[in-house]
Amino acid sequence: MKKLLYLSLAVMLVISSCNQADKKESNPFFSEYKTPFQVPPFNLIDTTHFMPAIEKGIAEQQAEIDAIVNNTETPTFENTVLAFDKSGKQLRKVSSVFGSLNSANTNPVMQALNRKISPMTTRHRDNISLNDKLFQRIKSVYETRNSANLDSQQIRTVEKYFNDFVRNGANLSETEKEKLRAINQELSKNQIKFNENQLAEINTNFRLVIDKAEDLDGLSKEVTDEAAAVAKTAGMEGKWIFTLQKPSLLPFLTYAKNRDLREKLYRGYFMRGNNNNEFDNKEIILKIINLRAEKAKMLGFETYADYIIDINMAKTPEAVSTFLNELMVPALAIAKKDRDEMQKIINNEGGNFKLASWDWWYYAEKLKKAKYNLEESEVKPYMALTNVRDGMFHVATKLYGITFTRIPDAPVYHPEVEVFEVNETNGDHVGVLYLDYHPRPGKSAGAWCGRFRSQSYEDGKKIYPVVTIVTNFTRPSGDTPALLSWDETQTLFHEFGHALAGLFTDGKYDRTAGNLARDMVELPSQIMENWAGEPEVLKVYAKHYLTGEIIPDELIGRMEKASVFNEAFNTVEYIAASVLDIDWHSITEPKQADVLAFEKESMDRINLMEEIIPRYRTTYFSHIIGGYAAGYYVYLWAAVLDTDAFQAFVDSGDLYNSEIAARFRKFILTEGGNDEGMIQYRKFRGQDPSKVPLLKKRGLI
Ligand SMILES: [Zn+2]
Repeated sequence: MKKLLYLSLAVMLVISSCNQADKKESNPFFSEYKTPFQVPPFNLIDTTHFMPAIEKGIAEQQAEIDAIVNNTETPTFENTVLAFDKSGKQLRKVSSVFGSLNSANTNPVMQALNRKISPMTTRHRDNISLNDKLFQRIKSVYETRNSANLDSQQIRTVEKYFNDFVRNGANLSETEKEKLRAINQELSKNQIKFNENQLAEINTNFRLVIDKAEDLDGLSKEVTDEAAAVAKTAGMEGKWIFTLQKPSLLPFLTYAKNRDLREKLYRGYFMRGNNNNEFDNKEIILKIINLRAEKAKMLGFETYADYIIDINMAKTPEAVSTFLNELMVPALAIAKKDRDEMQKIINNEGGNFKLASWDWWYYAEKLKKAKYNLEESEVKPYMALTNVRDGMFHVATKLYGITFTRIPDAPVYHPEVEVFEVNETNGDHVGVLYLDYHPRPGKSAGAWCGRFRSQSYEDGKKIYPVVTIVTNFTRPSGDTPALLSWDETQTLFHEFGHALAGLFTDGKYDRTAGNLARDMVELPSQIMENWAGEPEVLKVYAKHYLTGEIIPDELIGRMEKASVFNEAFNTVEYIAASVLDIDWHSITEPKQADVLAFEKESMDRINLMEEIIPRYRTTYFSHIIGGYAAGYYVYLWAAVLDTDAFQAFVDSGDLYNSEIAARFRKFILTEGGNDEGMIQYRKFRGQDPSKVPLLKKRGLI
């Protein structure tokens, strides 16, 4: 309502050809937010506000940089590094909102804006990182850092910035710098195109329309109701539509008896970006890979994987490959056993066919039932979204004493979004948490945790974080509330772990505060998944949505026994994608490869079984387009850390051991960016991480 009113007001202002000053004044990004806890005033933000705010942000930061480089005093930590660390406030303010909304709630206007804004910010970043005068000043502080009376965090911040500049090409010649700029522009353009194609392939290009009720055999009422609702919205009342979004895709693959339709839907899924249509990503990904290889070479690395992993815990691509191989061997052996057992079911049922990739979910579910007498549909009624949410809040309260209170009048960008204030036990403000659960056409696939504002310090005063969790969970249908699958339940706990890291981070310098090595970032998130499945925790939040009955011990027992089930499949499809990522980023020269042949060769080399497809194939592997290039492996790397860290709680005999929780909060969540990952981990754990808890958890030993 408010937004509509505002829009018409904006239109009137334009019609009356207001002068520039009026427009500027009405732009919410140009003043302090006058909202609870200064969250973004979504009710006042209009798409027309972004471009002027971004332009202003870029100009302001450029002026701040100019002031640093034109300073005639000798470079010091304060006048150079600190001034640089605190520059760009306005740009961060608008970019964090624009970026979050363009992922969670986009539309053609936002996408068009993104195509304009992205090259602008890329150019701006390059103007900074290739600014030689700025680099020389930072270098000067870097060279004298150990004799300048700096504290450990100041020294670390200087070192990080110096290294960033070198990694971004500060030591290149002017000609090479120009070339690097062109590469970065080209990369940015192609990455946007890749993601837009992705969204189009999921949301508009493919849908499975069913018009005969018998083709729904095996599916639950809530799933078919939702498919009917989708069809109705699409103007096809009386039919059912299934899409490539997970809440639609997975139940169909798991339960639909019609094998041909399962194949059709799964093909739609794994052929994304590979349909030789206007949304095809083969040429685009090849361009991206080649540009990255060229960039890595220019910066003195043999491959892009070397360039990326150099600053991770793993240090080298070889260490990553060895690690992945070690886990692939036992996982593949068990996945093959599972496959053979599923084939037996097919044979016993008189099915005259060989198990294919689109059969895996369906027969895995049958095998689970046969082996553990457990069906996903038994657990789901206990996993109402609000109960799961309250369960994760409960765990955080028990561990860290924090509480969550709904802020009913906080502005939101969509009516389904919930907002909570987070407080310490003593009532002190910690930050604000946004939760946005269900799929929409303008929302990217998957789940993530983002920031509308990161914690920082301004003139010694703490600025509190505003964190957002976005997911694509099954929405409520009729009288049935949103019931989460077990996978979705873990996903919510996972993203909540990222949110806790964002809320607890405390550091004076933006460059280092909360800045974990990439292969450590998933430690705070994945550790939370461990609590989700503990009987003690389940009994708190898993209540039947109709009767309120607490989940029975007997069902928990079966869930525990079945917890290793299909873990081999999960590990294999994940490692396959990780290897594919490393292989693409290990080319030493740009090449004109056949994308599909390259993918096949890579998968053949690790003896991937034909019944399993990598979790992401090249043409829709959006992780490696975004921040996970040569870094998809990090989830498994961090899984070693998270299972080992959780083991500390288990071994203490108290899942909420306050002393261990306090150490985890301090050394990982609050100060995780203060030192190298392994050093912070040892401070928490008192020893190196062991792989054994992970292997046990996945049933691989
Ligand atoms: Zn994560």
